[in-house]
Amino acid sequence: MARINAPAIVILGAGALPTARRIQASYRERAAHTPFADHTDCQVHALQGRVDADVSYRELGAHLCELYARGTPIVALCAAGIVIRCLAPLLSNKGAEPPVLAVAEDGSAVVPLLGGLAGVNLMAREIGAALAVAPAITTSGELRFGTCVLNPPDGYALADLGQGKRFVSDLLAGESTRIEGAAPWLDDAQLPRAADARLAIRVTPHAWDGREDELVIHPRCVVAAVAMGRERVGGAANADDALAAEVTAEATAEAIAASVRAALNAHALAPLALAALLAPVSSMADPALTGAAALLNVPLRFADTSAGANAATNTATSAAASTAENTAQNTGPSAAALLRSALRVPHQTLPGAAQTAAAHETDIALALTALAIDPATLGRPRGRLTVIGLGPGRADLMVPAARDALNEATDILGYDTYVKMAGPLRAGQRVHGTDNREEMQRARDAFELASEGRSVVMVSSGDPGVFAMAAAVLEALEASGNEAWAAVELAIVPGVSAALATAAQAGAPLGHDFCMLSLSDNLKPWTIIETRLRHAAQADLVMAFYNPISRARPWQLDKALDIVREYRAASTQVVLGRDIGRPGGTLRTLTLGELRSADVDMRTMVIVGSSLTRSFTAAGAHGAGWVYTPRWYE
Ligand code: SAH
Repeated sequence: MARINAPAIVILGAGALPTARRIQASYRERAAHTPFADHTDCQVHALQGRVDADVSYRELGAHLCELYARGTPIVALCAAGIVIRCLAPLLSNKGAEPPVLAVAEDGSAVVPLLGGLAGVNLMAREIGAALAVAPAITTSGELRFGTCVLNPPDGYALADLGQGKRFVSDLLAGESTRIEGAAPWLDDAQLPRAADARLAIRVTPHAWDGREDELVIHPRCVVAAVAMGRERVGGAANADDALAAEVTAEATAEAIAASVRAALNAHALAPLALAALLAPVSSMADPALTGAAALLNVPLRFADTSAGANAATNTATSAAASTAENTAQNTGPSAAALLRSALRVPHQTLPGAAQTAAAHETDIALALTALAIDPATLGRPRGRLTVIGLGPGRADLMVPAARDALNEATDILGYDTYVKMAGPLRAGQRVHGTDNREEMQRARDAFELASEGRSVVMVSSGDPGVFAMAAAVLEALEASGNEAWAAVELAIVPGVSAALATAAQAGAPLGHDFCMLSLSDNLKPWTIIETRLRHAAQADLVMAFYNPISRARPWQLDKALDIVREYRAASTQVVLGRDIGRPGGTLRTLTLGELRSADVDMRTMVIVGSSLTRSFTAAGAHGAGWVYTPRWYE
């Protein structure tokens, strides 16, 4: 069956936890060899305050609706009626529906409720097997045939759902069917078969012609090879050019997608039979190709073929040949056939777009094989390097884009401590933890991995651009002049920096102009630090000190404070945040006069207020007060 996203196992009370953990264990075992489609982990969600599990939620109804809307399969350990009532407001919307099941708290009953086409019955069978109970399957087709005919496995797509439903009700009414084409997943199904049946299940890449006596399923067995007719001009000279290049890329993407559709159409092939877009490695960094693959909703892969004349045909030929090799055991090398060579597609010229578009032509060639193609076996993907910030430490202070990058990563690089903070990681994700302080070498390692087609995440704490890895990564890229590195899809995802996390906990000390300074003289001369401190102090900026002190730099903080004290009163507010957002984190507010370097270590953020930074305790309030810098100035 098609792969599902990681299910959320939802419980209300502690009584359901053991059953929830059993179901979770069986899904985790399975994810170890077949990761979930969304690359996340199967977790137990529990009502806040009642029981501790992996994820806590405040209100069942809202939580179920949120999971449902995100397409997360739901296994709710509570009464079926509760689940139905909670989701009822969303059910009239006939969009894609994730599987939803109710399971009895004690594991004695498994009831599939929603998501018949998304594999809910299969999940019910799996959970039933894990709990050793028979699932309450109520779907007639499923009961009769032992499989959902309308939910073909990965690599296959149903041509038309409406027709599919009609077809299955004909079968249920007692008709038999023929099977035309290769449908290995139906071998064990108890379908009523007859060679001379009126009805036919046809597995074919060719488009359905609307015949009502056929259930058409398309194997994704067509690869479209694309070669850009001309080298694209790299590096926009100015902002206008950059904008033009963006506009051009978008238009080119649309033109490529349109010509792939036209080529499929010319051969009566269904768009759903397209398995992948394949391009020469030399055009890996071309955003138009990424855009075209997204428009066609297929993966983009790259093959090592020479550019220039007939590049598309060559690429398609090699794709067909390599696919033939992959499927040779089943079908023999003749399974692959080159369908079409060099369909030249002149692109439209946009007003204002650079001449690049004008003379641009694209070759498209289609390769067709007998069985569905796993795109992961074709050439290689464009490698990715994403530099992320984890935030100060707490999982909920990491931005979702960073979490997504971690979930999708094949390789994770960073200091051991940070990599641990990034967890839990999936089995199969390669971790390249290191104590190595050589940041440039780590950046180069990351590019090497990414240029092999891997999906690499480099972790920093806080924000990756604040005294962390992002600058090292860019420095390595600029210095290398390496084209394979330049072709890597590089992205930097921001994070909550230590100064921001500390400030938020104290109140709003950074509420007016401020600066961030690293007191480390490892990579810059101490004299520069002194000059900057003087100017910042003179300008009455609030200052956030990163790397304030370490065993190797014992005297620098005292020297820095001496300089600040020349300009700021002893009563100036100071905030010390240590291990903010981590276990045992502490926050302290004191004055510049009281501050001693012994109060500070390398895990501390020091925020020195301006002349206006103040602290107060709200009337009648207990405990620590607030520190803030007003928005106005005198
Ligand atoms: N990229 C990181 C900063 C790295 S420099 C960020 O944006 O936060 C390392 C320094 O950051 C430490 O010496 C300390 O001064 C500060 N720091 C990092 N994490 C911290 C935390 N959780 N609490 C307090 N200070 C922290």
